[in-house]
Amino acid sequence: MKLTYRHNPLQSQHSPLPGNAAPGLARTPAPLSPLELAQRLQTSLDLERVLEMFSESIQWAFPHDGMTYDHPALGLHSSWGRISRHSCCYNLVVEREEIGELRFLRGRKFRDEELTELENLMGVLVYPLRNSLLFRQAVDAAQTDPLTGLGNRAAMERLLPRELASLRRGQHELALLVVDVDHFKRINDTLGHSAGDRVLRATAKCLREATRESDMLFRYGGEEFVMLMRTDNPEDGLQAGERIRTVLRECPELQAAASGMQLTASIGVAQAHPLDTPATLFDRADQAMYTAKQAGRDRVVRSEE
Ligand code: GH3
Ligand code: MG
Ligand code: MG
Repeated sequence: MKLTYRHNPLQSQHSPLPGNAAPGLARTPAPLSPLELAQRLQTSLDLERVLEMFSESIQWAFPHDGMTYDHPALGLHSSWGRISRHSCCYNLVVEREEIGELRFLRGRKFRDEELTELENLMGVLVYPLRNSLLFRQAVDAAQTDPLTGLGNRAAMERLLPRELASLRRGQHELALLVVDVDHFKRINDTLGHSAGDRVLRATAKCLREATRESDMLFRYGGEEFVMLMRTDNPEDGLQAGERIRTVLRECPELQAAASGMQLTASIGVAQAHPLDTPATLFDRADQAMYTAKQAGRDRVVRSEE
């Protein structure tokens, strides 16, 4: 384990930390032995929970007002408590692997004995922290399509029930679009599977460009993509479908990947009802997509139910 330490006083005082700042840190924790601390940290694999438990559990030995955690390479930032005048900062490295930067903040200066105590306690943190990072990466990988980087079917199946629940709470409307590339098999048959893969990657890129940040895109399987979008009115889903159809038809990168073969897509749109299950909503959009295929492909069909 390697700790790289920096100590630098901050200017700002007592302003709340951004991010998922908790209202405050626990003030009266009981003393814990290193073994007890290790046992406590092992009760969760959730990264935020492990760090929060650590901050709370060490208050008796190392009182602090706030703590932040950063892992820029993984895009992680979390904070607890509040900003204070003084800060000390550690780059945590275990078995040559960087596992993030922890910063502690408080109004009073840190004394050398306190920092020694903190460093001992961080020795207990590093392995549970590394395990929770590995767990997070495994969960992310299990829900990501490796070819396109989009969420996969498992990610969609995790998200859809939540979106339907917030629709039922009246928080927003919801539309589901099924986008199926037309005659994709011809690409594989004519240009080979690697070219087919490039076309799928380019399709995902064009879909990202054709949609808004808040739209949720997934590769459902093969050459089928799903988009979930929160809508303000029932026309939004149809309009988004038309926009996607046009962008895919005209995307130069996609047509280049297809070596000039004209690529089109058939798109089915379904507007969610409060009584929908994930399956009933998906099936309506899928049926509408097949209707678009039968009607000649390269079109958008909305389910009328
Ligand atoms: P339609 O217009 O009726 O949708 O015809 P299609 O050719 O697009 O549909 P079909 O279901 O007949 O063929 C889809 C093909 O997609 C067959 C399968 O080999 C190919 N495919 C599925 N996943 C991948 C992949 O990851 N990479 C490549 N290159 N091809 C894939
Ligand atoms: Mg197809
Ligand atoms: Mg298909």
